[in-house]
Parts: sequence; structure tokens; C-alpha cells
Amino acid sequence: MNILSRREFINVCALSAAGFVVSCASNPVTGKSQLMLVSEQEEIQMDKMFSPQQLSSDYGTIQDKDMARYIQSVGNKMVPATHRPKMPYHFHIVNATYVNAYAFPGGTIACTRGILLNLENEAMLAALIGHELGHVNARHTAEILSKSKLTSVLVGGAGMSVGSYNQNYGGIAAQLGMIGSGALLASYSRDNERQADDLGMEYMVMAGYNPGGMVGLMDMLQNMSKHKMSSAELLFATHPMSDERYNTSVKTLRKKYGKTKAKPIFRERYMDSIANLRKIESAIVKMQVGDALMAKEKYAEAESQYAQALKIAENDYAGLVKIAQSQFVQKKYQDADRNIQLAKKAYPQEAQADYLGGFVSLT
Ligand SMILES: [Zn+2]
Repeated sequence: MNILSRREFINVCALSAAGFVVSCASNPVTGKSQLMLVSEQEEIQMDKMFSPQQLSSDYGTIQDKDMARYIQSVGNKMVPATHRPKMPYHFHIVNATYVNAYAFPGGTIACTRGILLNLENEAMLAALIGHELGHVNARHTAEILSKSKLTSVLVGGAGMSVGSYNQNYGGIAAQLGMIGSGALLASYSRDNERQADDLGMEYMVMAGYNPGGMVGLMDMLQNMSKHKMSSAELLFATHPMSDERYNTSVKTLRKKYGKTKAKPIFRERYMDSIANLRKIESAIVKMQVGDALMAKEKYAEAESQYAQALKIAENDYAGLVKIAQSQFVQKKYQDADRNIQLAKKAYPQEAQADYLGGFVSLT
């Protein structure tokens, strides 16, 4: 068990008072005993509470049923290889166009359309999902919570989403729900990343993939991080990237998995499976450019990018909500309202268009 600092000790007391069970649990991956303030049931509960909000702020899960099934099949192939095969895993593609992937502690894992377009084969996708599975299996979010980062928020109770949101992101963007509730996602340490990469490689190899997919993924991430791609900011804020991660994957491949290098990477199957997304790749890129312009408060230019995107990907829910946001901040309320109505029609189950519509009707 870790020795607690005074501050951590106070947090632990606060948590116990708040009804959290303080215990030492053995880590499913290392088998070592560690301080755990969060039980498995609480991990699942937190996931249920917070992941729907995140998926929704990422414009909901993809409506293309074949693509939805595809990511589930890749994820499910690795589940039996994990240390916690009985967790209630869910694998999603979300409509967001920025580059990211994330996991909630109960097993909800999502990749954005933006990141899928940057992967080149199924082995890279398996590496990405394997890495997120690594975070879930090593209980990194629970560990972070236990170590006090979010304890004050948890002790504060239901204020979690609203409080952390407004403190971190002021201004109209947050009010309109334009910035995802990324603030709720865990920011992993470098040690967490190292362990998740290691586990990810183990899981993907056991599922029959070529471990070179992990090296490919690291190579891609390293390039993005060096070019400081604005669309990948949140990805690197939550999953710190380093040259070391790339180098380690190369070394591990050679030392540990040399024999499995001949395993398939499934390039064609990947490209076929995301064909419908590739068809609108230029629209996704325009939306990314639009988002960067929005962040610089160049609203008219952003609107023009979104409009061009919608010419390519007609009725794209994310595109419609984004263009409505850019029109709303320019006080073009009628145009915004028209696009909100189209967005509601395009994805009636999703809340963000409704939410924005509420603001427009107040004008
Ligand atoms: Zn990570």
C-alpha cells in the first residue's frame, strides 16, 4: 500500500465520510495491492453517469450500422484476452471530427471519426482500442480518482460536470456545449501510458493481430504531436505522447513479439469497413478547419468551411450543429434555427441540436 501524504490522507478521510469504501484492492493487471477508493461497481456507475454526456457532446454514436458493428467486432475480439473480461464493454465510433479516443472506467470506449481517418489498417485500430482497454484493465481512472485529483470534485457531489466545465472553459463555447465534456476524461500519467501501450500490444497479439499495428499507431501519434495538430490537442492532453512511447513499441515488438510479425494487419478489410467515412473525408477535414477557426473567433470563415463540408456530407449531424453554432454566435438566428431543425431531423435521438435550439428560441 502506498504511503499517503498528509493531503491525500485528508482526501481519504473526506471520501470515507462521503460514503466511499476505502480499501486496498489487488490490481487486476499487476496483482499488487494498491489503495483503491473506488470499487468496480462504482467504476461501472461512474461510466453510466458520465459517458452518455461525453458521447452526446461528441455528436452521438455513428448512425452507420455497419461501421458501428465493425468497431464492436474489433473490440470484442480482444475482450477475452483482457484481465477483466467480464466488464460491460461498449465500443463506439462517435461523430466528432477532432482526433481522439477515450475510455470510461466501466468499459465504454470510443474513437472519433477524425482518428479513424488517420489509421491505415485494422491492426492500428486494434492497437488503439487495446491501449484504451489497457487503461480500463489497469484501473487507471480509479487510481487517479483515488490519488486525489478529482476527489474534491467527487466530494463536492453532483457539481462535477457543471463546476469543472465552467472553471476550465469560460465563454460562449462552453455555454453552447461546443467544447466536449473532455474535462471529465482522465488525464493519464506517463506511467499509465506506458502500461496501457504494453497491455494494448499484449491484447492485440492474443487476438491474432500483427503487433506492428502498435508501432504504426505510435508513429502516427508522434507525427501528429510533432506537427502540433490542433484537432488532436485533447488526445495529447489526456494521453501524453513521447518519443519514448514510440521507441518502446519498436523494442517490445522486436524482443517480445518477433515471432508474431508475420500476422496480418488487415489493411483492405479496414479500408472497406470505413469506406463510407472515407467518402466524406474532405468534409471531415473542412470541419476540423472550421473548428480551428471557431477557436480563433473567426466565425464567418468557420461558417464558410462548415457550409463547404455540408455540400460534401449532406445532412451530416455534426456539420449541421457546427454550422448552427457558428451562425448563432454571429447572431444569424434564422439561419441557425434552420440548420438546427435539419440537425434534429438528421439525428432525432441526439440532444445537442435541441440544446442549441433552446438558446436560439431565447433570442
Ligand atoms: Zn492513454
